[in-house]
Amino acid sequence: MQIIQGDGFTVKIVRSPRRKSLAIKVNQDGASIHIPSKLPLHFAETFISKKSAWIKTKLKQQCDREPIPKQFVDGESFSLLGKTYTLQLTDDMTKPTITLTNDTLTCRAKLETASKTAISAAVIAWYKNYATDYLCLRTQQISSQINLNATSVTVKTYRARWGSCTIRGDIQLNWKLILAPAEISDYVIIHELCHTLQHNHSPQFWQLVSQHCPNYKQARLWLKENGHSLTVEPYKPN
Ligand SMILES: [Zn+2]
Repeated sequence: MQIIQGDGFTVKIVRSPRRKSLAIKVNQDGASIHIPSKLPLHFAETFISKKSAWIKTKLKQQCDREPIPKQFVDGESFSLLGKTYTLQLTDDMTKPTITLTNDTLTCRAKLETASKTAISAAVIAWYKNYATDYLCLRTQQISSQINLNATSVTVKTYRARWGSCTIRGDIQLNWKLILAPAEISDYVIIHELCHTLQHNHSPQFWQLVSQHCPNYKQARLWLKENGHSLTVEPYKPN
């Protein structure tokens, strides 16, 4: 994911070979600029700085709005590591079972009787399971790259934080991080691994983070802007 840093916000760059002009979009997933494949980056940067006030207003409107709860219907979009997958409900003689293929998150279930509550529970259980495998493996990989070791890694549900690290070096990560692009969860992992050396947010701590994650400021800002939308909640009938 390529990002342009705006004045207090970030904009995701989306290049497309068919596009002839520049366009900025602001939605639940944050701000993005859509540009022709070969366009030099400084054109996009100038365009963004001209539209700065408008982007800020739109982002504020998005933040004030509650994220739209998932309805667990056929064709609905679900995020995983920065990619969007389409939910496909497939009739089968089974309790709700989730599988991931190229672009699809498939839920097999006996559709006549399976409640949306049961389908949402299966989707969330699948996410938590995937998050545990992915985040533990990624922590191991990053840990050996940057030479900072955790005593243990646990993936759990947090309401309002992305990770934590105890004085003993036990790291806890929020499973909802896998709803964000991989660079963002990598930043949180690096942040927590740096706490095994610096148990505070001192300038030395941030110096250590920037050494291992040069784009950490963008990642922090991205989480601040988009964190509220990183969730999949159990289905609640209206
Ligand atoms: Zn911290």
